[in-house]
Amino acid sequence: MKNFTYYRPTTTEQAVSLLEGRWGNTELLAGGTDLLALQKNYIAQPGRVVSLTGIAGLQTIVVGQQNVQIGAGVTLARIADHPDLRRLFPALTSAAGDIGGPQIRNMGTLGGNLCQRNRCWYFRDEHSPCLLRGGNRCSAIEGENKYHAIFTANHRCVIASPSTLATGLIALGATAEVLGPQNRRRTIQLANFFNAPTGPNDREHNLAPNEIVTGVTIPVRGLNNAAYEVRQKQSSDWPIVQVAVAFAGGRNGEKATGVKIVLSHVAPTPIIADGANRAVENRAITDAIAVAAGQAAVAGAKPLSQNGYKVRLVEVAVKRALTIAAGLPRYWEV
Ligand SMILES: Cc1cc2nc3c(=O)[nH]c(=O)nc-3n(C[C@H](O)[C@H](O)[C@H](O)COP(=O)(O)OP(=O)(O)OC[C@H]3O[C@@H](n4cnc5c(N)ncnc54)[C@H](O)[C@@H]3O)c2cc1C
Repeated sequence: MKNFTYYRPTTTEQAVSLLEGRWGNTELLAGGTDLLALQKNYIAQPGRVVSLTGIAGLQTIVVGQQNVQIGAGVTLARIADHPDLRRLFPALTSAAGDIGGPQIRNMGTLGGNLCQRNRCWYFRDEHSPCLLRGGNRCSAIEGENKYHAIFTANHRCVIASPSTLATGLIALGATAEVLGPQNRRRTIQLANFFNAPTGPNDREHNLAPNEIVTGVTIPVRGLNNAAYEVRQKQSSDWPIVQVAVAFAGGRNGEKATGVKIVLSHVAPTPIIADGANRAVENRAITDAIAVAAGQAAVAGAKPLSQNGYKVRLVEVAVKRALTIAAGLPRYWEV
């Protein structure tokens, strides 16, 4: 690991003032579960590391009538176990509870989860050519791409979006609260937070290098919601495919409205599946509707040489996420 200077400010304003306006030399440190691995592999080589762990205000969860605010420094374990969050937002809490193992969930934070870097093995190997580390091509497009994007049209880099909290948050209409220099605050819809990177000056999100996420706000709208993940193993790995859904109504034969179906791990950013939303909108959720939504969700997929299998997994994951959120029997658990 390259030597660095460590800072531990006590306010968000101090933290922002320590960040540079370009990526590379300064990095924020939250739980460190991603950043330290990147540093050990010489993928991140900051000269200055700015810890957020001394900022008390980032660790609160406030449950209000209109919305819920979760500080960026709240751990994944607290999100997974919080009774109100579990009641209101199972799409979020079930995903948080499935991340890594207990150690990762106790150290990893909401802000770090949203801003984690992608899992592409070419990106994470300092010796492999990679577009995001200054190379002139994406090695995965012609290489080992079993776990990469299947929605690849117009993408020069075919990473799969890594955050499983983002998926449910987007379905629930959440926003990220962001602080930049000169105390400039902005609110970004989580649906617009992510970016398909194409080079070393890009990240997987749209933050400026000297901005930090201070928290996430989720509106309380009484939506039925759920997430479903297809995993190769139950712990210490990322899913192969993940789907989150949210809608009003949609239970006991009632029509579902405001349907939001979000796919993850299938493109460089999470995707809102508009075709699938339309297949469900204003309809009662039945087995046939859930199947139709799954089929609509994969329209436009252009898998790579080794990951065509993910197309079918998305269809199934959409069907199962809708089934859970609609309160229908979980036929796959019998
Ligand atoms: C074995 C294993 C399995 C995992 N499985 C999953 C999974 O299934 N789903 C999933 O989503 N994740 C998974 N993860 C990733 C895990 O969720 C992240 O590593 C963790 O959430 C990162 O949080 P952190 O606080 O440790 O971030 P750090 O490692 O401290 O930071 C990560 C990145 O975010 C930036 N950052 C941190 N906080 C902020 C902030 N407030 N504002 C702006 N930038 C910030 C940092 O600068 C850094 O670039 C897994 C990790 C491991 C090791």
